[in-house]
Amino acid sequence: MSIKVLDPDIVAKIAAGEVIERPASIVKELVENSLDAGATQITVETQAGGVEEIKVSDNGTGIPVSDLEVAFHRYATSKIDDLSDLEKISSLGFRGEALPSIAAVTEIEVLTRTSSEVVGSYLRLRKGEIIQRESRARPQGTTVTVHHLFRFFPARLKFLKSINTENSHIAHLVSQYALAFPEVKFTLTLDKRTSLRTTGNGELCEVIGEIYGLEIAQSMLKVEQHDSLAKINGLTSPPSLARSSRKYFSFYVNRRWVRSPLLAKATEEAYHGLLMEGQHPISVINIFVPAQEIDVNIHPAKTQIKFCQEKTVFSSAQNAIKDALARAPIASSIYVPISINTEQWQSPRMLMESEPTFIVEQLPTTELPVLRILGQLANTYIIAEGPNGLYLLDQHAAHERILYDRILAQWAQKEIEIQGLLQPITLELSPREEEILKTGKEFLAEFGFTIEPFGNRSYLVRAIPALMAKSNIVEIMSELIDQLARRDGPNPWEEKIAESLACHGSVRAGQQLSIEEMRELIKQLEQTKQPRACPHGRPTMIHFSSHQLEKEFGRIS
Ligand code: ADP
Ligand code: MG
Repeated sequence: MSIKVLDPDIVAKIAAGEVIERPASIVKELVENSLDAGATQITVETQAGGVEEIKVSDNGTGIPVSDLEVAFHRYATSKIDDLSDLEKISSLGFRGEALPSIAAVTEIEVLTRTSSEVVGSYLRLRKGEIIQRESRARPQGTTVTVHHLFRFFPARLKFLKSINTENSHIAHLVSQYALAFPEVKFTLTLDKRTSLRTTGNGELCEVIGEIYGLEIAQSMLKVEQHDSLAKINGLTSPPSLARSSRKYFSFYVNRRWVRSPLLAKATEEAYHGLLMEGQHPISVINIFVPAQEIDVNIHPAKTQIKFCQEKTVFSSAQNAIKDALARAPIASSIYVPISINTEQWQSPRMLMESEPTFIVEQLPTTELPVLRILGQLANTYIIAEGPNGLYLLDQHAAHERILYDRILAQWAQKEIEIQGLLQPITLELSPREEEILKTGKEFLAEFGFTIEPFGNRSYLVRAIPALMAKSNIVEIMSELIDQLARRDGPNPWEEKIAESLACHGSVRAGQQLSIEEMRELIKQLEQTKQPRACPHGRPTMIHFSSHQLEKEFGRIS
């Protein structure tokens, strides 16, 4: 094929593809425009996951009638003038791409009025062409309505997920902006149902209360630090409030919502040793640096950012969060003190104190040897003797394997044992979590959860799988919702759900077990398909062979 310049229509679609990945991307661009216009009230309404309609109204400056058509030209912006402006961007938009990109693949209406105009102006475009233009009444501000997303862009339509999934992305996005701008009153309506409403009174803690619930808002810790480069403020959760997903990280740089692996790492490192693996905090962190210290012109979606002084920002953010955690009331430690169950076990300290020069052998996975229980170490490991040496079993990992197999078997037979709750448990969900729960309620029902709406993003859990009877249901639900959000991934979702349930239902490290309980645990482990590994792939046991022991004690060379 010879080289030729592409048709403008194709160019517009390629460009639109970069800005608009899904309905939530349009919501993002429109909300950013409203914020740039100084709005103090922003209303987002969508129909059918935003595919049918997205409407964003604000009370910002409005667009002068003389500029309205120009706003739809590619690279038309009122926000920067020259190259020097590009180096110190203070607005959220600056590329002049959003409106033309959206217009290229939808039908779009704009109704807007500035304070100096007596009447508003209305414009309607289809596939980028103006089809209607008139004067209309409107209070100061702008309303943009986008119809039939992707009708003219079928390549993307194919990749859209269910309405509820798209709603969860929109809810997440609007929540992120509400957290970034507590002084702006946000309202989000999904299919005529109010999903989020903030007061706009400037209190971050109140917005967190609206989104994540009061209990979380009340326990958040204040982050505040100034240094020569950065000013950092926000709120972060105590270690006891961990979540199983990083979706609860909200980072803003100069008020721009950014996806920053650097800041995520800084946050996680601040919690190092305080959270179990796979757990993440809830953090809302604002970082202010001089505009010339960052580059936001990396991708059309403008959510990526480069810091000139990455290392300094990293340690400032990490220190700010560490400080907040240090000031927190002491939470119960997740570390388990070492205590030895000495029944039938003579000198366990020898094992603890000897240098760990044993070669730890991973065994073939399907069978267990005959084991004689010697005792419990650190209330965490079962010590046992087998035909060829010493075995240490991780009681939590072993129990996880047992429950995992049992849950999946019961689920496959549609025989999950259910326990009704006399006192239903109330869940307060964030807007995003609510939409995710809607996508997965019936899957959870297959696992024994009966969940009913209770108004205003509250839900009642009326029944649970019997295996979970002793667990913290609110915690499990939060994790299951995060699992459901990842359901589009390659792993079978039922395995993920069984993994979470098994993990929460099993005995913990630090729990003392009687010899009978340990014996029962091993008996049940023997009956599983893969007794040597927990569902996450960690070993349930390690083996020190007689040969290794003899070598270690210098009995043989
Ligand atoms: P950018 O935000 O990068 O400038 P857009 O294509 O998003 O580009 O918008 C083009 C221009 O339209 C903006 O620069 C702004 O002047 C105007 N505009 C868009 N939305 C609004 C709004 N809600 N209120 C006021 N002006 C707006
Ligand atoms: Mg914009």
